Amino acid sequence: MPSPTLLTVTSTEQLTPHLVRVHFTGDLAHFAESSETDRYVKLIFKQPGVDYPEPLDMKALRATLPADQLPVVRTYTVRTLDVAAGSLSIDFVVHGDDGVAGPWAAAAATGDELLANGPGGGYAPRAEADWHLLACDEAGLPAVAAAIDALPDDAVARVLVEVAGEDDVIELDEGANVEVTWLLRGAPSHDVPDERAGRNAPLVQAVRDLEWLPGTVQVFVHGEAAAVMHGIRPFLFTERGLAREAVSISRYWRRGRTEEGFREWKQELARAEG
Ligand SMILES: Cc1cc2nc3c(=O)[nH]c(=O)nc-3n(C[C@H](O)[C@H](O)[C@H](O)COP(=O)(O)OP(=O)(O)OC[C@H]3O[C@@H](n4cnc5c(N)ncnc54)[C@H](O)[C@@H]3O)c2cc1C
Repeated sequence: MPSPTLLTVTSTEQLTPHLVRVHFTGDLAHFAESSETDRYVKLIFKQPGVDYPEPLDMKALRATLPADQLPVVRTYTVRTLDVAAGSLSIDFVVHGDDGVAGPWAAAAATGDELLANGPGGGYAPRAEADWHLLACDEAGLPAVAAAIDALPDDAVARVLVEVAGEDDVIELDEGANVEVTWLLRGAPSHDVPDERAGRNAPLVQAVRDLEWLPGTVQVFVHGEAAAVMHGIRPFLFTERGLAREAVSISRYWRRGRTEEGFREWKQELARAEG
């Protein structure tokens, strides 16, 4: 396994009240091999006061250190990348004081450093699709925005984005046949009342209500676990009968769970389902 990449903050931009873009520099040569638009990295947050052997190897550390001394790992989409210039940016949802990565990003300053493993990825828009459906909340927005950037000029796309309010709407690089609908839930993602969350999230209803276009569709849906996996996934596969390879769908975060709590929950679920 290659050593993690050192990323150094060069600047930050407050894109909206709940989204901060952090620009980094680093040696990104190996990122040239990845072409997925949902390209992501595993950011490594060291625990203060713990001396880690260099180069940092998460697998080795997991085998030797107690859980409370392990670095915290969080997954984030690479929003923009310039390998030659050695620069990339990540858009972080600022979701209050809970967690590690969100609060880190809210306070990030020039010169701050992080380690990153990756990149990984699994999706890029296919030119042969007749149309594209892209749906997300704030956490999935960086990947959706990167997908829109990569669409051919004549691509047909319907884009559904759920955000807190009008101030959370950002500019997207829309082509002539790309229609973006912003769904305002009326509260930040960490503070949304139960009746507007999960299966009741505006994104779920919007996907169900979307006018389906003729021809083959390629779908990309990522966001909060309950909305995506319980609200939207059954609709796409059971009601719309889409083929697995036509759909990229996953949970990017889960209400009330940290990323490692969420990982444990997924493992338990997989074990229970055999
Ligand atoms: C492939 C992939 C790509 C991703 N890309 C991005 C990205 O580009 N930008 C981005 O912001 N996120 C992205 N995420 C989601 C991000 O990894 C999670 O939101 C992560 O849990 C944030 O870590 P944290 O330390 O801030 O909070 P955690 O410590 O994991 O959680 C603390 C608390 O905050 C809540 N929480 C976590 N995330 C959110 C949120 N988005 N909104 C409201 N409450 C939240 C949790 O439910 C928990 O209660 C991605 C996830 C995956 C799997």
